[in-house]
Amino acid sequence: MPAIMDKATIKTLTTHYIDGAFIESHGRQVIDIIKPTNGQVIARVTLGDEEDTRRAIAAAKRAFAGFGRTTKEERLRYLRQLHEAVAARVDELTAMMIEEYGGVARFARLIVESGANAFAAAQNALQELPLKESWGKTTVTMEPVGVAGLITAWNANALFICLKLASAIAAGCTVVLKPSEMSSLQTRAMVEAVNEAGLPKGVFNVVTGLGTVVGAELVRNTDVAKISFTGSVAVGQGIMRDGAATMKRVTLELGGKSPTILLDDAALDKAIPTALILAFLNSGQACAAGTRLLVPRSRLDEVKRAIRDEMRNCTVGDPADPNIMVGPMVSQKQYERIESYIRKGIEEGAEVLVGGEGHPKGLEAGFFVKPTVFVNVKNDMTIAQEEIFGPVLSVIAYDSEDEAIRIANDSKYGLHSAVLGTDLDRARCVASQLRAGRVVINTMTDDPQAPWGGFKYSGVGREYGKYGIEAFLEPKAILGAL
Ligand code: NAD
Repeated sequence: MPAIMDKATIKTLTTHYIDGAFIESHGRQVIDIIKPTNGQVIARVTLGDEEDTRRAIAAAKRAFAGFGRTTKEERLRYLRQLHEAVAARVDELTAMMIEEYGGVARFARLIVESGANAFAAAQNALQELPLKESWGKTTVTMEPVGVAGLITAWNANALFICLKLASAIAAGCTVVLKPSEMSSLQTRAMVEAVNEAGLPKGVFNVVTGLGTVVGAELVRNTDVAKISFTGSVAVGQGIMRDGAATMKRVTLELGGKSPTILLDDAALDKAIPTALILAFLNSGQACAAGTRLLVPRSRLDEVKRAIRDEMRNCTVGDPADPNIMVGPMVSQKQYERIESYIRKGIEEGAEVLVGGEGHPKGLEAGFFVKPTVFVNVKNDMTIAQEEIFGPVLSVIAYDSEDEAIRIANDSKYGLHSAVLGTDLDRARCVASQLRAGRVVINTMTDDPQAPWGGFKYSGVGREYGKYGIEAFLEPKAILGAL
């Protein structure tokens, strides 16, 4: 039973955002929002039901009649307004991400800024994207697909909402967003920002609720043409299966078990800090986290020493403190999940180099785990194959570059990868052989015009830049008739 804060300080959310207004929920179920740093209730949220969802879909459908016919210039203007509205609220959104999710300050700000920038990036991509081409007696136009259901996860709420919304608006789609119910406060702040951007009524609608209720209605409703989803493989598979009944277009951004290949010419003073940033990004609750570090056996001992040294900088604690690297896990459930994987790693014979089971000393009240590095890991162990979604790194030794590439690709996932090495031609050559949607070399970096998405079980389709916008468009050809 979570502790309850002083009643006066508990926030209450009872509305959804439908047709340009905050509307009282038809659904009556109420959930608690728990603060991850201390387990206290900080808000009570009334969840939407199928009726709320259908109202939102109807509003989006009505709005699509006009918005689907807007020109590129009009959409560019809306994207500009969205960028300004969200950029003006970066401080508030960052504070909310720290409070509700436990995101560490330095990363939370980056996520929120990337969210705001998604609208600027979509403007650039839309400007370059031809929406009409003609040859002979043929004209091809790129038409918005229709009403889109956006379903998002809890670990980077602001970014997911902005990315999906930016692409949908650029394409001329209207949307119903179902955020993770665990991100209700963050979503509310975002909705208030978007409300100020001056979109036509019904273009952007939000129903907070359970995936099995609100999400499921979006997936089965005949008036929703597309689902853009970020979340787990299991739910993504269900969306693909259930969406087939109404021929849904789907974009699925799913999990990862990303490899970082440390080549034998890597300079460890740079490579190890980079490998640890990749692993413990967003407190390890990141789909892109580089949770398998592949190390040449000949350098294993010095790598272990370098990791032990560098982990002293991997501070755990209050996410509001700008010096903290790893914050709490989002929930008790997530805490237990991470602990069970750490136990499993030990049972299967991996060796704990740093960290291990239990709360870090002095942080027993919240959902904090110890950032953990395992060595002596074999790639077929559970901790090397399954997505843990917490700060747990597996170090795996290899004997040759070919073996490193084979191990890296020996995963059902293929979202993100990294190569660390001094000879850049060689690093690029290794990168070209990795089966992943993105590979970074010697850094954790981003490019909002480069596609984001996964091979294999990491997903279907892409977000970001022109790739993200195209996922909300249908090509239509008109032929003959001169
Ligand atoms: P989740 O799949 O449990 O939930 C994601 C969203 O789907 C939530 O809004 C949830 O309410 C909804 N949902 C649940 N059941 C549903 C159903 N039957 N129908 C429709 N919607 C339903 O995932 P999570 O725990 O919120 O997030 C963690 C997962 O997300 C991890 O696997 C992580 O790798 C993945 N993720 C992927 C990316 C990416 O870009 N590839 C980014 C972040 C997170």
